[in-house]
Amino acid sequence: MAKKYIIFQEKLLLTWTGKKPYFMNVCHLFFSKVCFFQKKMAEAGCTDPKILQATGQAMLDILLDRDGTVIKEKDYLCRPEELELLPGAGQALKSLQDMGCRLFLVTNQSGIGRGVFTLEDYHLVQARLENLLAEHGVFFQDEKFCPHPPSAGCTCRKPGTLMWQELVRDHDLYPETSLMIGDKPADLEFGAGAGLRGLVLVLTGYGRRTAERLGCPEIPDGSGFLELNRTGAGPDLLARDLPAAAAWIRNFLIQNFLGPERPARGNSGYK
Ligand SMILES: [Mg+2]
Ligand SMILES: [Zn+2]
Repeated sequence: MAKKYIIFQEKLLLTWTGKKPYFMNVCHLFFSKVCFFQKKMAEAGCTDPKILQATGQAMLDILLDRDGTVIKEKDYLCRPEELELLPGAGQALKSLQDMGCRLFLVTNQSGIGRGVFTLEDYHLVQARLENLLAEHGVFFQDEKFCPHPPSAGCTCRKPGTLMWQELVRDHDLYPETSLMIGDKPADLEFGAGAGLRGLVLVLTGYGRRTAERLGCPEIPDGSGFLELNRTGAGPDLLARDLPAAAAWIRNFLIQNFLGPERPARGNSGYK
């Protein structure tokens, strides 16, 4: 199996193709291991310093809405067989993952709380989504969902930020190295509330309606995306779809993450 070893600054990222990446803080105690992995990295043919630098610095965490962003919006989707990935979504997520991004799902599933479908239905749909993405070698590090109806007034339902706080607790995310991608105002408000570095509005699902509601300009013909100056919980980026967003993120990573070191993840050893 192909292995990829990426070393950057004091941290070490080991990515096994198709499996979860492992993160390790590299301190003096691990210095001998660094030497070992540098050797292994060279053996694996991972020697292009530009790619190493770009991907190694690309420790960006991507939070994704599900319906209308990754899969076709079908109000209260509850039958696994009706789940459809949006065109190019699998490849787009794979490209983000290959750049060293971690992928997280944050989804409102009020259909559960409203009694439209059951928790079990939700898990069956998720299993199918995971299987479809696995065919592309894509996996979510974690999937958070809110099962409550809006009337419950919970803090996990987007735009509430409890799901973000849970991800921070469980996976050491940082707002300055995290992006939210979604199709509804609640997705953007969630990202803004969490203080995330980037808010991306895709025009799939309810995205076009959201863009109109927020008064966003049109994406120019021939372009997949349009950068905006964020105002309030407006997006930083409009993207026609997830593949367009992924293309933009690649440039963003290369241009912006070659700078200051991101905060240490605070783990030692394998995670
Ligand atoms: Mg959505
Ligand atoms: Zn909730």
